Amino acid sequence: MRNRTTTDEIVFLGTGGARYIIGKQLRATGGILFRLGSKNLLVDPGPESLYRLLTYVPKFNAQKIDAIILSHKHIDHSADINVYLDVITEGGFKKQGILLAPQDAFGEDGVIQKYLVEFVKEIKIIKPHVAYTLQDITVQFPVQHDHRVETYGFTLRRNDYSISYITDTKYFPEIIQAYRADIIILNLLRLEPSEIDHLSVPDCEKIIVGIKPKVAIITHFGMTVLRKGPWNIARQLKEKTGITVLAAEDGKHYEIEKLLAYG
Ligand SMILES: [Zn+2]
Repeated sequence: MRNRTTTDEIVFLGTGGARYIIGKQLRATGGILFRLGSKNLLVDPGPESLYRLLTYVPKFNAQKIDAIILSHKHIDHSADINVYLDVITEGGFKKQGILLAPQDAFGEDGVIQKYLVEFVKEIKIIKPHVAYTLQDITVQFPVQHDHRVETYGFTLRRNDYSISYITDTKYFPEIIQAYRADIIILNLLRLEPSEIDHLSVPDCEKIIVGIKPKVAIITHFGMTVLRKGPWNIARQLKEKTGITVLAAEDGKHYEIEKLLAYG
């Protein structure tokens, strides 16, 4: 029975972001699986997510996903969402699953198939300050991000720990107050700040210094970050901030208890 913190883990089903990485699959783009107690939360299932899940978590039954959280509708976060909804609802025969997504992920310009929406057991529209509780897990969406489409990260709490997922966004100072947590996951797409609405290395440094988590994990790498080597960037960020920074690896399972031990 997986119900203790000791077995809780984060599995990266992908650590790549944006079109070039998707096209070449230089890094997988399947999102993140949180295995917390008896619950499985899947976040941002991008292209190839189901395939990566079955590869990286052997014998995992995708029907056992309790909730899917979509931070925003961009294709590198959402491509496989309908595949999972079909699997979870058994092709629409069982009303199962929980889906949390911003309003613009639904409807005509959305990414979620209308016929599948009807089969999902529970749908929660993400808005600023929305919170959702699943057994002993609470997920809060503190603030809307500065990104081209409606976008939200979250802070997840269970037992005595907290994890923040700071998804795609242009940097804004409120991020620090919004996402205070023991473990933070940062979508670091670019080396340098630019007009493109993504976090860069200097942005991540500011956030890590501001939040002072026990550990920070960088992921969702674009081409410039991959060329430089995410592990090099993680090391530099650690030197500058004094906080342990890990560069996420495709398929790697991170035990939460071990992550908390960094603090
Ligand atoms: Zn995006």
